[in-house]
Amino acid sequence: MTPRSVVTVRVPAKVNVQLAVGGRRADGFHELANVFFAVALGDLVTASPGSPGSGVMLTCAGPDADLVPLDDSNLAARAAHLLAAHHGVEADVRLHIAKEIPVAGGMAGGSADGAAALVACDALWELATPLPVLLALAAELGSDVPFALLGGVALGRGRGELLTPVPVDGTFHWVFAVADGGLSTPAVFHECDRLRDEAGTGSADSDVPAPEADPALLAALAGGDAVALAAALGNDLQAAALSLRPALAATLRAGAEAGALGVLVSGSGPTCAFLAKDAEAAEAVASALRASGTCRAAHATYGPVAGAEVLPQA
Ligand code: ATP
Repeated sequence: MTPRSVVTVRVPAKVNVQLAVGGRRADGFHELANVFFAVALGDLVTASPGSPGSGVMLTCAGPDADLVPLDDSNLAARAAHLLAAHHGVEADVRLHIAKEIPVAGGMAGGSADGAAALVACDALWELATPLPVLLALAAELGSDVPFALLGGVALGRGRGELLTPVPVDGTFHWVFAVADGGLSTPAVFHECDRLRDEAGTGSADSDVPAPEADPALLAALAGGDAVALAAALGNDLQAAALSLRPALAATLRAGAEAGALGVLVSGSGPTCAFLAKDAEAAEAVASALRASGTCRAAHATYGPVAGAEVLPQA
């Protein structure tokens, strides 16, 4: 087989259909019960050979490209370095990110690019890294990176990185409303703690019950029941995201008024997610959101979809 000179990987964004946040642990992280759901809105990461000694050379295109760091802090670059170090090879590669996932939007876009770069470099450098090793490297990069490798729907425990696949029947239809400007995930967790302290419940892990996956939510996914899933959607970070960005309330309201079955902030926000009855209803919700003036863009999409995967060569 001739080595591939270019490898393109498609990687999904995620929405958390449940994000149950426990108290703050001694290490500063929060225990989570996090049901990740991979959607077809995603990025493409293309790897091609660099020249000897070039290191990782990054480019990015897309609506939010100017917000994406192009130095070694980019998760795609970090992934390339980590994989190269693991195998003792040089990390000489060109990586191009075609970015559709909103940046700092609560859809794990940076984590998705990290997962995609692991898979793309693995194929380009013909390393054939076993999946369990890729998952371990992914967990080193960040809590949301392993899920972007797996895709589908999965329950994440710990900081979100200990994954168990969740059975799902059929396809669910979603709309994502993209806000102007992002929210910092640590700032949203901090606000969640502040609101808990202010309410008198406390924010430490001894104050907050251990987070659990909701059996009604898991049953709705397994039964392919969009109405039941809509009723079970939950995000413990939503109040914090709304506190930091009160304008999101109008976005959520506009989607509900347009007929969405269920609405929630995606992860740490500020992207808002709307579950629709079918593809046609999703298009109608997306058009209504665009017309409402409460978001910068609205995308109708679906899921679950596979995790990071190499596209066939053109
Ligand atoms: P999560 O949902 O995992 O909390 P997010 O979707 O809110 O994350 P990201 O899009 O991953 O946020 O971006 C968070 C920050 O990470 C950005 O502001 C940017 O500085 C940095 N970053 C590093 N690599 C990338 C990348 N490949 N794409 C986008 N942002 C990146």
